[in-house]
Amino acid sequence: MHEELLARPLAELLARAASRRDEITGTRVTYSPKVFIPLTHLCRDRCHYCTFAQPRARVQAPYLVPDEVLAIARSGAAAGCHEALFTLGERPELRYPAAAGWLAEAGYATTVDYLVAMAALVRDETGLLPHGNAGALSADELAQLRPVTASQGMMLESLNAGLACHAGSPDKTPGRRLATLEAAGQLAIPFTTGILCGIGESRADRLAALEAIAASHRRHGHVQEVIVQNFLPKQGTAMHLTPPCPDEELLWSAAVARLVLPDDVHLQAPPNLSDDFGVLLGAGIDDWGGVSPVTIDHVNPERPWPALERLAAVTEGHGFTLAPRLTLYPRYVGAPARWLDPAMRFAVMDRSDAEGLGREPGERWFSGADVDPPPLLPVQVPVGRARAGGAVGEVLAGVLLGQEVGVDEIVTLFSARGPEVAAVAAVADDLRRSAVGEVVTWVATRNINYTNICTFKCRFCAFSKGPLSLSLRGDPYLLELDEVTRRVVEAVEAGCTEVCLQGGIHPNFDGDYYLDVIRAVRAGSPDIHIHGFTALEVTEGARRLGEPLAAYLGRLMAAGLKTLPGTAAEILDDEIRAELCPDKITTEEWLEAHRCAHGLGLRSNVTIMFGSIERPRHWARHLVRTRDLQKETGGFTELVPLPFVHMASPIYLQRRSRRGPTFRETVLMHAVGRIAYRGWIDNVQASWVKIGPHGARQLLQAGVNDLGGTLMDENISRAAGANHGQMMDEAGFRAVVDPLGRPLEQRTTVYGRVAARA
Ligand code: SF4
Repeated sequence: MHEELLARPLAELLARAASRRDEITGTRVTYSPKVFIPLTHLCRDRCHYCTFAQPRARVQAPYLVPDEVLAIARSGAAAGCHEALFTLGERPELRYPAAAGWLAEAGYATTVDYLVAMAALVRDETGLLPHGNAGALSADELAQLRPVTASQGMMLESLNAGLACHAGSPDKTPGRRLATLEAAGQLAIPFTTGILCGIGESRADRLAALEAIAASHRRHGHVQEVIVQNFLPKQGTAMHLTPPCPDEELLWSAAVARLVLPDDVHLQAPPNLSDDFGVLLGAGIDDWGGVSPVTIDHVNPERPWPALERLAAVTEGHGFTLAPRLTLYPRYVGAPARWLDPAMRFAVMDRSDAEGLGREPGERWFSGADVDPPPLLPVQVPVGRARAGGAVGEVLAGVLLGQEVGVDEIVTLFSARGPEVAAVAAVADDLRRSAVGEVVTWVATRNINYTNICTFKCRFCAFSKGPLSLSLRGDPYLLELDEVTRRVVEAVEAGCTEVCLQGGIHPNFDGDYYLDVIRAVRAGSPDIHIHGFTALEVTEGARRLGEPLAAYLGRLMAAGLKTLPGTAAEILDDEIRAELCPDKITTEEWLEAHRCAHGLGLRSNVTIMFGSIERPRHWARHLVRTRDLQKETGGFTELVPLPFVHMASPIYLQRRSRRGPTFRETVLMHAVGRIAYRGWIDNVQASWVKIGPHGARQLLQAGVNDLGGTLMDENISRAAGANHGQMMDEAGFRAVVDPLGRPLEQRTTVYGRVAARA
């Protein structure tokens, strides 16, 4: 390999590397929104190219004090960063008495000890994920940093021991660098390393370094990315007259890195060190590294980072999409037990999205929050003008040809970023137009949640009050049946055509309770549509009576039950249910309850609660499993995606879930649902109570045709922390729809039209 690569022309290497990258990461290029914290500019090494290290006389104080560290970190957090990159010189206390004295006075023995304290401070006070970049460290020092960092890094730079630029730098010996890389692997630390190009090394030297990195990664799997960095001469350094690394050498190095490194090692080149950084994409890179909206590049202060808008524009201009990542890559986010100290796991989860990438920087919207979402779909994009290349584009092209998407294609659609999101939404909206036209519907419904007392222990549920619940909001209650009747009378007077009945599973209920509730509704209205009882409630009701489910459902229907809500589905995948709701009905039991209901002529809907602990593959399985049942029974009327509201949810408060979906994920769930159910389920609903009116309007451009119910007395989302109120009226729905110029119509539960009231 080595000899072969040295002999090949650059153009061929570039083409091979770019094609290899396309196979591995497709159109996705990542970056890490970061803030740079230069803990100390003092260093015991004397690398001839470096301006980061300063002599003692040039720095005001040996170290940043904690308040300075926090002020920088807070400005980064406020600007939407995920990463706190701690950069520092190597062991300054061994060279500068002032550094040793400062540390001793502050109560620290070494710079690494102080770094540990500052990383913990930043993590705990700001939630940023510290990345330690402290140079060549011993295994003990790396282990010391592991509980306070999400990842660590050290540039290998070069394995050429004779480089003049490293004379006087004891930490730059190849042996020390390789030992650090190896120890990081043994300690299961997601690790960033890289090579410096143009500091006097040869191409063969660079290949040797890349091969050593690849070998270490093959032993431990810990090298998450390799940086290929070009030398630029800097005023005030010994190498200020040395020519910069030629562009050709940088491109050659990036290309051979892609060809030498294992596929699961990402390849990065800093965008601020090349004038025309877009060309680096042609050499096989898939990451731009840390880019700060707040601080300068302290290692290359003369080279400002491109603004994120420019980075996105250049990336997209080359046919790629830009995605924010965390300081550790998704492969490591997805396997926390192996790669993360327990003290770091929630901090990582809290900032990650469903793919294990970073949440959108600066996005303040989350499900249930009274904050407008970002304008992902401010205007409707015609299908022909929506851009999507790569795998997303291929799947969409298949959809336009009429192909049905399977699990893999659905996962691909959920990976859409940047302009691809608008492309998926445009196709979904086209399918919506063909299926149901332009009309947007709503239903006048009243929720009656007869009890919040529940024997189940769903870990996401902030509504239930039971012996083991956290009892965060409200007191336990059980409505009297007379009160149910009274609320129905009130609902009819308010023009409701439906009551939606759902509640906790009270320990004293048997199946007859649900029959009593139906009778109480009928006492208030002979004909209001009774949409009631989840698959869990009817399964549990039948079980407690020892009655077959079909017979029990038949009795409920005879009493007046008309349709079943699709709640209690959460994620229809037992791997996730085991964690989210371990004592609830299984995936098959949920499907069986709906199969049975459909067989009796009871229609129902599909819900999916997304954004807690599951991944896009689980979403895809949920959609395909419910689609398969629909093909069998035809009984589902609609899809109702329910973004997870995290604020008061026990699983979030116990630091074991994400904070709900991002708005991009929310748009995609509705759009991909529309695409996946094409020809099988015609209606897709936006839950305004979780998404808010402005979010719902955007979703109406992504395949949604229904805004759900007026929801007098919405309790369940509110218990979890949602702030969008308890009720919406026709004027409210109209305010959502009118700016789109689409007609609004009231519907019945099963999508018939309701005549306008005088
Ligand atoms: S989700 Fe339903 S079954 Fe689960 S704890 Fe809450 S009320 Fe009970």
